[in-house]
Amino acid sequence: MTSKELKALGLENENPGSSTGSKWFSKGAWITSNSPTNGKEIGKVQSSTRKDYDKVIQEAEKAQLAWRNIPAPKRGEIVRQLGDKLRELKPVLGKLVSYEMGKSYQEGMGEVQEMIDICDFAVGLSRQLYGNTIHSERPGHRMYDQYHPLGIVGIITAFNFPVAVWSWNAALALVCGDVVVWKASEKTPLCAVACQKIIADILKANKLPEGISSIVTGDKEVGEWISTDTRIPLVSATGSTRMGKLVASTVAQRLGRSLLELGGNNAIIVTPSADLKMTIIGAVFGAVGTAGQRCTSTRRLIIHESIYEQVKKALLDAYKQIKIGDPLDSKNHMGPLIDTDAVQNYLQALDKIKAEGGKLLNKGEQLKGKGYESGCYVTPVIAEVENHYEIVQHETFAPILYLIKYSGDLENAIALQNGVRQGLSSAIMTNNLRESELFLSQNGSDCGIANVNIGTSGAEIGGAFGGEKETGGGRESGSDAWKVYMRRQTNTINYTANLPLAQGIKFDL
Ligand code: NAD
Repeated sequence: MTSKELKALGLENENPGSSTGSKWFSKGAWITSNSPTNGKEIGKVQSSTRKDYDKVIQEAEKAQLAWRNIPAPKRGEIVRQLGDKLRELKPVLGKLVSYEMGKSYQEGMGEVQEMIDICDFAVGLSRQLYGNTIHSERPGHRMYDQYHPLGIVGIITAFNFPVAVWSWNAALALVCGDVVVWKASEKTPLCAVACQKIIADILKANKLPEGISSIVTGDKEVGEWISTDTRIPLVSATGSTRMGKLVASTVAQRLGRSLLELGGNNAIIVTPSADLKMTIIGAVFGAVGTAGQRCTSTRRLIIHESIYEQVKKALLDAYKQIKIGDPLDSKNHMGPLIDTDAVQNYLQALDKIKAEGGKLLNKGEQLKGKGYESGCYVTPVIAEVENHYEIVQHETFAPILYLIKYSGDLENAIALQNGVRQGLSSAIMTNNLRESELFLSQNGSDCGIANVNIGTSGAEIGGAFGGEKETGGGRESGSDAWKVYMRRQTNTINYTANLPLAQGIKFDL
């Protein structure tokens, strides 16, 4: 990525990492962002100190008082402008996502497209923040419920979707009348600075208060400031289940609201009637795309014994064709892991699979030599395992695909699919209506996302996104996910000269 391209996104070699709108400041330690694609330094971002953080929150509080009084459709107009700017910058922002995070350029562009899509969704939503009208049991009374802005939304995000997750939250929160304070992953700080520059310019051009959108930069300590802060009524946190448990308990201590989007352990059930061509494409993209670093990556394939060998062979053939290398080169299918710590986790997971009795079907290794100088490239692995293995029960954020055999009825496969602690995404490959409906029924998948004849990864923004159990229960993006960003109020109006009490209670004076 050239310095001209970085400049087009407002990035310098050294960037302050705290901002309220277009005012940038920071006094903390420097974070160096190196590209996992080639190990080279992209730039530095200065962390926020507690003082910087407090300044950001004070500005956000002030800005919210003004922002909540701007009519929702007018707030939608600002989000429309954000979507337009993202359309313009899609190639260069997509490239930064690819270069700083390591996903393919196509996926980087796809991530920016998701930002554009959620902006479009939010613009329409800004005229549809509907409550209900309710018939009162009392004569001459009218009841309704309405939704008011909540205040400051704290957004904590993971490295693997370094721009889209912010926008899923910010676009909805902004039309809902909230202001946003974002702490991005310390592994992808430049993506956050670039997004903040984009929205800050829009706020400035529209003469709006600076603190409507802010960022703070740093590691988990800055995240902890957000989760303990009583000035922040909603904390939306995306990341590992370990992090989510800590954030959930901290926010619950102060009876705040949290929206949690945590780890997955996603499976595709492959039934005897499955279309195997579709199955192989869905499974390989799900397992290898983003080098297995999507929350919705396919981790487990639960295959009926009657077709097990056939699927195994087709997968091994497909894996032989996967090209690994620079994600900005479109001929490569798979780029690097985020850093060398992630490579160590991958290697340890391979050891654990073997120690528990699993079998690696192809060689899992860290790649060395020309093109792999960053030390972050690995080969994608297929392993035969049993569902109950400790390692299979955990999400390993790497391209490792587990093959699990089932026999008998679909109920047995569903029990395996549900037999993990996470509950994000799930899929079934079948051409049998009964199997498909059972999978989607109350006796089927226990996940937040259940697909038929589609893989586990790659959701559309129109649906609510999130998962059950240790995935955290939160829902973001489409459908009615917006409601978590607002406070609901029930209103009853008496337009008579009498005061009848509810439930027929008599109280005569
Ligand atoms: P991580 O948990 O290490 O970090 C995520 C964010 O949380 C970072 O910004 C980090 O600084 C912050 N953080 C860490 N500990 C914290 C604490 N105690 N208090 C407050 N903030 C804290 O996750 P990661 O390695 O960046 O991302 C990978 C994980 O994210 C995977 O488990 C993946 O499944 C999950 N993820 C989930 C979704 C989803 O929508 N369900 C989406 C993307 C990623």
